[in-house]
Amino acid sequence: MSKSTFFNRQALHLRPDPARVVVRPFKPATEPRDFNPTDKSRANHIVERVLALDSATVAAQLADVLESFLGRHRNLLQTFESRALEMEVAFEGHVPFTLDQRRLIGAYFLHEYSFEAAALFNPSIVRHWDQSGLKPGAVRFILSLRGIGEGHVSSVTFRTGVWDGALGVFEACGTRQSAFLAEVQVEGSALVMAADDYRRMYEASEALRTAVHKYVEILLTEARQFVACNALHSVEARLCRSVLEALERSRDGRTLPATQEVLAQMLGVQRTTVTAAISRLQASGSLRSTRGALEVLDAGALERAACCCRDTLRMARSEIYASGEAACDE
Ligand SMILES: [Zn+2]
Repeated sequence: MSKSTFFNRQALHLRPDPARVVVRPFKPATEPRDFNPTDKSRANHIVERVLALDSATVAAQLADVLESFLGRHRNLLQTFESRALEMEVAFEGHVPFTLDQRRLIGAYFLHEYSFEAAALFNPSIVRHWDQSGLKPGAVRFILSLRGIGEGHVSSVTFRTGVWDGALGVFEACGTRQSAFLAEVQVEGSALVMAADDYRRMYEASEALRTAVHKYVEILLTEARQFVACNALHSVEARLCRSVLEALERSRDGRTLPATQEVLAQMLGVQRTTVTAAISRLQASGSLRSTRGALEVLDAGALERAACCCRDTLRMARSEIYASGEAACDE
């Protein structure tokens, strides 16, 4: 058996997702008595500082913590409370606490931990036991990986997915091969159908052929424009255009769930370059970056900062959509 029939190398890259996080207990180290001649632990000092805050400040701090973290973790308030119970030893001499104090103290002794922040490797894949509801030829799988997180702590991480082969018009009607890997960057819904069914419909329906021809024309127009855009326009202007276009295609319309790593891939630049561009936009109040997402605060400002390709493409797309006949049938 030759090497080429034994395996095929795919253009597939598994990348760590730093936005996958868990909440972990945090316990301050005990200081040597020489450095801390009091009889109180560092944990005890932290508790004392929380108790020194007035109730309005405690409520405001707790609200601040919840605003930043609640969307990413289940049962966060219960986690704060149970952590506060575990730290009871540090509360000696301080009871009773209010509910808000207890929750804030619990939060102080927890930290968010990104378990894929540094690296991802050792992939292993098996068939999922549930293969229901899939299109013909597709396979649902479970993938396990070793993740290296912050502080180089290893963990085993799991993902499920569907291997569904090809995507797009060329794979269905052209070469019938998939030359590229398509990555879904923003959550949403999609329609799928078997390639053979698609080909039959394509041959039978003039309306479908017209739609496909227009779609291909738009793709080529975009490809030409993006070559010029990448060479001529600033990262910041391209970022604004990309964010606005991605949001137009998403359900939310305001928050783009994309990490800075993904944005860097979309724009073909270093992550640090994207970070700098986001900082400038954040300082101007146009958007807000949270872990793993961008929230648009001022869409008008983003529109003004976006490169002119946005208008050029918008015009080209609407002209192509509005044209009466299929370009290729004339
Ligand atoms: Zn541009």
